[in-house]
Amino acid sequence: MTTDLTTDAAIGMTPDVTSHPTLELTGLTRTYQKGQGRRTVLKGVDYSFRAGRMYAVVGPSGSGKTTLLSLASGLDSPTAGTVRFQGRDITRIGLTTYRNKHAATVFQSLNLLTYMTAVQNITSAMEITGVQGGRRRQRAVELLDLLGVEPAEHHRRTLQLSGGQQQRVAIARALACEVDILFADEPTGSLDHETAADIVEVFRRLAHDDGKCVIVVTHSREVADASDEVLQLKRGKLVPRTPRP
Ligand code: ADP
Ligand code: MG
Repeated sequence: MTTDLTTDAAIGMTPDVTSHPTLELTGLTRTYQKGQGRRTVLKGVDYSFRAGRMYAVVGPSGSGKTTLLSLASGLDSPTAGTVRFQGRDITRIGLTTYRNKHAATVFQSLNLLTYMTAVQNITSAMEITGVQGGRRRQRAVELLDLLGVEPAEHHRRTLQLSGGQQQRVAIARALACEVDILFADEPTGSLDHETAADIVEVFRRLAHDDGKCVIVVTHSREVADASDEVLQLKRGKLVPRTPRP
């Protein structure tokens, strides 16, 4: 037996980000208090998500989709199970660090500050997460361009923008901090068909061209069809939906 530190065992302990999935959920369980009783919404969710892919999570209302996103994005803590980012438990990374640097969410309600302009919504998010002052404005404009928000709309209050433009601003804000994972909760729910198709294209580009891991909760058949993998929440488990014939 050797104590040489270059043995396979020693090398195997070196963290290698490329060998780990971007996001790995293991035995993820969430129980809520319900009146006097308890209700377990997620019952041991196991799944690995990779960079450069777009995933759709489907399931009826109340099946736990938003709960799953909250846990995977570090906004809520599981009753049991773990969330790993590139092989590391997010509680060890620190939930705030994980949310600021690695995983961003586009909320169902967008949560834009409607009295601020599109650019201000993005730069204020960067302020919180510590992007350097001089870079903020330039990066906000780059992101809005990337997402197809017209220059004339950059400095309009978001309240005055259309639903589709607001959605783009919310996505740009989520991307402001060069995160690896983008979560979105029913992002096309309030959009017309054509605008929804544009937003889906944005998500696909972010996954396929920019290498992000994109996870979208959706009720939309179009979003599901555009995704690389469709997963269904069923009786508290996440199961790959079999491809249609
Ligand atoms: P979905 O997004 O698929 O509609 P949710 O994750 O929002 O589902 O909710 C799943 C179930 O968990 C619902 O029955 C909901 O009422 C319940 N639930 C969600 N959040 C809480 C909470 N904070 N406290 C108690 N029950 C909750
Ligand atoms: Mg929901």
